[in-house]
Amino acid sequence: MDPVAAVTDRIAEIRSQIATVSRLAAGRPPGGVLGTPSGAYGSGAAGASWSPSAGGFDAALETAIAASPGAPGGGAPAAFLGQGVPGQGPAMLGRAAPAWWENPTALAALSGVSSSAAASAGAAPAPASAPVPAVGSGRALVDAKGVPAELRVHGNGKVPAAALSTVAGADGHRLWAPAARSLEALRAAAARDGVSIGVTDSYRPYDVQVDLVRRKGLYSQGGLAAVPGTSNHGWGIAVDLDLDARAQAWMRTHGERYGFVEDVPREPWHWTYRPTH
Ligand SMILES: [Zn+2]
Repeated sequence: MDPVAAVTDRIAEIRSQIATVSRLAAGRPPGGVLGTPSGAYGSGAAGASWSPSAGGFDAALETAIAASPGAPGGGAPAAFLGQGVPGQGPAMLGRAAPAWWENPTALAALSGVSSSAAASAGAAPAPASAPVPAVGSGRALVDAKGVPAELRVHGNGKVPAAALSTVAGADGHRLWAPAARSLEALRAAAARDGVSIGVTDSYRPYDVQVDLVRRKGLYSQGGLAAVPGTSNHGWGIAVDLDLDARAQAWMRTHGERYGFVEDVPREPWHWTYRPTH
């Protein structure tokens, strides 16, 4: 072969190799890279040979490897962990998220996020088919006096049991549903703080309100009972709580966050649900 032909052949061969490398660099999915043994990349051989178009590819490759939980010295970047979408691995991984991805404790350990925050971030979204009133919610559902419109139609103290909601863990006590859900959340939060909050009274039927006046006297006359038909207990939005000094202090600090306000002087046990939103 003459020298010119040999050089021409060599040039054609190099062009072909460049074309192949370019195709790979442009089209190779990151998932394929992740599937290669970890030792293949970083051995020093690959990096230089991908030039000139390998710069972008190398960057993408490094990002993919950094985000790969299985990569040596890798692990997901903290920034990603902080905003990770549970159940969805990064799209670029091109495969199912590993189990640890949904493990709040593992996430917390890696990202420095508190385990409770990670746990709540990792909680499954509430199913849209079963709406539960949010804590402190319902402001659009009450009138200027705070009475739920849906209960006003029945009359104070005349609300049928089915229109109210039982308070879980409170021995059959009933309230307007948003108040019931909020009270449950409030008591659970108090319990986590080591504070016990008992429920001694909740919805109060009209005849019981009448009886209470007989036994405890009208509030306006120094007693403790509202004029029958005017008590917020008759709307299922007031509770009387069993509070020791520590629980009383807890309520005064945290009650409002759950929509409950201490609104009757001389009755520190009486808390009314006033939705915040
Ligand atoms: Zn009361």
